[in-house]
Amino acid sequence: MGEIIENLSQIKLEIEKLSKNAELIAVSKYRNVEEIYAAIGAGQRVFGENRVQESLTKWPGILNDNYDIELHLIGSLQRNKVKDAIGLFDVIQSLDRKKLAFEIAKEIKRTGKEVSCYIQVNTGNEPQKGGVLLAEADELIIYSKELGLDVAGLMCIPPTGENSEAHFQILKKLADKHNLTNLSMGMSSDYKEALRVGATHIRVGTAIFGSRGV
Ligand SMILES: *Cc1c(COP(=O)(O)O)cnc(C)c1O
Repeated sequence: MGEIIENLSQIKLEIEKLSKNAELIAVSKYRNVEEIYAAIGAGQRVFGENRVQESLTKWPGILNDNYDIELHLIGSLQRNKVKDAIGLFDVIQSLDRKKLAFEIAKEIKRTGKEVSCYIQVNTGNEPQKGGVLLAEADELIIYSKELGLDVAGLMCIPPTGENSEAHFQILKKLADKHNLTNLSMGMSSDYKEALRVGATHIRVGTAIFGSRGV
């Protein structure tokens, strides 16, 4: 647990050096509640999870403690999980198709809960990966705004084994084109590059909590 505190302060230092305003999202998927509390104890308040189901087993109890946590969903979202997701998360970073946008907008309207969204862009156009294809991104961004969604920014996961920076640049260019301020990009292996390109949010798991062993 001491390591978690040490790692967090290391990464905070890097953020200070490279981009003072970027937000660190601690990715706590597959981590247990004790590990999450260790990070909270070190002052971390912004967390990312990639599965709704797993999050429902861990987070409602923690949120009861009123630490003013901000919870981001960073993994793919099925339409039948939208109700649960809107109930639990503050930010949905994996909005990547129109039907999902419609469902999210409907649920936000029904509940009145304030949830902001990022459009996830498949910058490498990889068939197996989530995210809207680059060629369809303009349309989805415009559609989501028209639905009244709070589109805070864009998110991407570059292809493994490729230079991430080129993908971060693509995402930044697209965000600029649509006047979107937030850029969620960069993980344990490439968050420094992401910060240099202008990430406003980095999503870091293993560099905080250690290897997931999966
Ligand atoms: C797991 C995950 C991360 C964190 O990855 P690490 O390499 O552990 O830092 C970031 N973003 C998404 C979408 C993830 O699923």
